[in-house]
Amino acid sequence: MAWVGVPEAGTNELSPVAQAGFDGGYLREVVPLLRDAGEDRGALGQALRRKKTVVVNDLKADPNVACKKAALARGYRSMASLPVLVDGRVAALFVLYSAQTGFFDGDELALLKHLAGHISLALKCFEKEEKLNHLAYYDVLTKSANRSLLRDRLTLAIANAGRHGRQVAVISVDIDNFKYINNSLGHKAGDQLLKSVTERLGSCVRDGDTIARQGGDEFVIVLPDQVSDEHASQVIKRILAAIAQPISIGEREFNITCSIGASFYPQDGSDGETILKNADAAMYGAKELGRNTFQFYAKEIDAKINERLMLENSLRRAVEREEFLLQYQPQIHLNRGKITGAEALIRWQHPELGMVSPDKFIPLAEETGLIEPIGEWVLRTACAQNKAWQDARLPAITVSINLSARQFRHKGLAETIARALRETGLKAECLGLELTESLVMHNAAAGALMLGNLKQMGVKLSIDDFGTGYSSLSYLRRFPIDELKIDQSFVRDVMTDPDDAIIAKAIIALAHGLNLRVTAEGVETKEHIDFLQGRRCDQAQGFYFSKPLHSREFEELLQQKSLMETTDRRTH
Ligand code: C2E
Ligand code: MG
Ligand code: MG
Repeated sequence: MAWVGVPEAGTNELSPVAQAGFDGGYLREVVPLLRDAGEDRGALGQALRRKKTVVVNDLKADPNVACKKAALARGYRSMASLPVLVDGRVAALFVLYSAQTGFFDGDELALLKHLAGHISLALKCFEKEEKLNHLAYYDVLTKSANRSLLRDRLTLAIANAGRHGRQVAVISVDIDNFKYINNSLGHKAGDQLLKSVTERLGSCVRDGDTIARQGGDEFVIVLPDQVSDEHASQVIKRILAAIAQPISIGEREFNITCSIGASFYPQDGSDGETILKNADAAMYGAKELGRNTFQFYAKEIDAKINERLMLENSLRRAVEREEFLLQYQPQIHLNRGKITGAEALIRWQHPELGMVSPDKFIPLAEETGLIEPIGEWVLRTACAQNKAWQDARLPAITVSINLSARQFRHKGLAETIARALRETGLKAECLGLELTESLVMHNAAAGALMLGNLKQMGVKLSIDDFGTGYSSLSYLRRFPIDELKIDQSFVRDVMTDPDDAIIAKAIIALAHGLNLRVTAEGVETKEHIDFLQGRRCDQAQGFYFSKPLHSREFEELLQQKSLMETTDRRTH
């Protein structure tokens, strides 16, 4: 009789996987008794432990044989136990019994060892193949399914659902702003984050569902066998909540969000490719809605995606064709009534769409990287314009430009600015840079370094939209900032919303306490001015004085002595 036993991983138990010859119920009887076969007792135990062939040529006479009675009762008189080794560990035991005593002699044993060697080689090949299969179907980093397995599973799910009149839901999940995290914290932290996200996704679905990573930070979940879209909705809500839980990586804690899109077989497409494409389109729809939300696929989303693609293409062309222009909005000193600065605001003169506002195309320019050439154009144009005004002997002012996150993260920013100043001949103190809190704080250490470099050059640094970003105030002390700009949302309702009034007041006090200048944005009415003057706000910018103007119009304004007198009919 011969049998093959495989040791269970992590235990000493042997499980028979193959058997041939006369058994007479022997294995059934002895296997439960072999629980501790690895304890170095009996022939099997020794073979397991010592990884050596153990031969007992007279079962009757050997005192070490376990289950001797059972063996003798079946007429076994001798036995050999051969370990099958794979990479140095016992992958299986090959056990043989003979009715003759002294059966396992030299020749016989040599043959059997040879055989065990072959089995070992075969097992090795199987394991390798399994590993290769794993590599072919699973994502190495997150251990979730990869694209190929996703497509297999989806095809299978669709075929099944088709037969039984059920639905298949495909959910596309994309982490919001993952690139920032990955770039600013390094890829190791990024990898860690992806693993945590995979685990969380796993906790939101059932056993038969498939989670796949599509590459990057995009995950796809297949829910087979759905009777309605109710369950998918629940899963989506669970995912949004699970991802929103803080994630700790190393010493730091992160709050991330994701955007989710879903599409269904058969409503949204008849094949896997279409369903996947539409779930993706829905996910982009969720991003457009402002992220951290979800969208079901609908035909209108397709149209939106197309619109976005078209806009992206024409934005690319706009850079080449120089379809941009700058408008300038004055910043007025509230005591003196004089223009002390101007904010340069970009406009896109689209050949068909007309004037496109920056809120529409700056985010797109950020995502596509087009912000780099666009931002550099803004910088040069603003510097050259301010120099031209100075050369025309107009009152000296600071012209400020807005920097986007991508520009700020670019290592060469300080050099680019220095070059623009040098080539246009503008003094550094006549240029201002507006940065948002979240942009600076995203990587506070790198941010502080960059701000230090810029400050050293002599340019003015402002925090734009103050009060809407990070809540950490300690950075104000550490960063070399010159000015806070109160976000227009607080200014708008200072007269009607007591909370906003308190916030605006507090920001002014905070700025002054830290020796910073403070400018109110979005100042539209006389009441706003009165409020701000009452709180000793330094400067104001808004439609009350002027909307953003073409350079020619701005020049005229600059020649006026005081804006307060012309706009404010009451005398002080
Ligand atoms: P921001 O830097 O906060 O600019 C102020 C925005 O408020 C401008 O919108 C301006 O036209 C508007 N505004 C000014 N006064 C008033 C007012 O009294 N009431 C109201 N309701 N709005 C007022 P705009 O020009 O559409 O720009 C929007 C945003 O686009 C800017 O916000 C800025 O973040 C960004 N942006 C503009 N130009 C550039 C640029 O050259 N580069 C980058 N990266 N971003 C830019
Ligand atoms: Mg600004
Ligand atoms: Mg602003």
